[in-house]
Amino acid sequence: MQVIHSIDALRAALKPYVMQDKSIGLVPTMGALHNGHAALIKESVKDCDVTVVSVFLNPIQFGKNEDLDKYPKRLEADAKLAESIGADFVFAPSVAEMYPEGDPLTLVRDESLESLYCGAYRPGHFRGVLTVVSKLFLITGANHAYFGEKDYQQVFLIERMVRDLNFNIKIHRVKIVREESGLALSSRNEYLSELEHSQALSINNGLHQAKELFEKGERRVALLRDVVIKSILANRGQVQYVEVVDQKTLQKFSAVLQPDVKVVILVAAFFGKTRLIDNIELN
Ligand code: AMP
Repeated sequence: MQVIHSIDALRAALKPYVMQDKSIGLVPTMGALHNGHAALIKESVKDCDVTVVSVFLNPIQFGKNEDLDKYPKRLEADAKLAESIGADFVFAPSVAEMYPEGDPLTLVRDESLESLYCGAYRPGHFRGVLTVVSKLFLITGANHAYFGEKDYQQVFLIERMVRDLNFNIKIHRVKIVREESGLALSSRNEYLSELEHSQALSINNGLHQAKELFEKGERRVALLRDVVIKSILANRGQVQYVEVVDQKTLQKFSAVLQPDVKVVILVAAFFGKTRLIDNIELN
């Protein structure tokens, strides 16, 4: 496995695969890889002839008061993990390599959902994500790309972008990987103290309580939201949002769910200074 830092070198390394019509899989990450990322890489290695894991902490998707500076960085360990799973290349460009002229003037934006849910609390976040993901698609020429459902709104927006802009790439969704405790794996879990970590389990616990209610026939949106909110608040979390939304459109439900809808509950909450997101599909 090779670690490559420049766009030209990556293109040169992938050219033989393109010439032979081999399938290229891309797993975009911000590094500090864990078993959630590993699941994405495994899928790509299984499906594709060659797998590229990108490790790029993309500054344009972070707000001014967010955790860009303290985000964990450990490229060597990331490369070892990627290699152990069978990745062929780690692409780890510098910010100057990706944005040689400073912040890009051309941005990819979603007009309708970029200011909902996470977008409401992280202005500019999704246009930063969609822009860098577009660049990574164009740089690698990948045929397949892998995204986790932990970032539910993100994968939804990427799928939509691919359809809207005719990217010739198949997007694969990978289920959320959790600790045994139920906490969704995240590079940001490293920020949590032991106490905050145990309190953060209330997110998944609350989501499961909502799922149980749903399975018993509860269809009132307010009640489904409330169990999640109460679980988090009872464990000293601060709720940013808990929304019951349509899996197909990501539009918010209110009042009572109709029988034929496919539902996902999206959550963002703080424990101490750490912002965590999670979700559960109610099928
Ligand atoms: P990140 O490095 O946090 O930007 O994540 C890179 C990719 O890994 C994204 O597609 C995430 O959705 C995915 N990912 C992160 N954590 C998990 C997890 N616990 N389960 C599944 N996918 C994940």
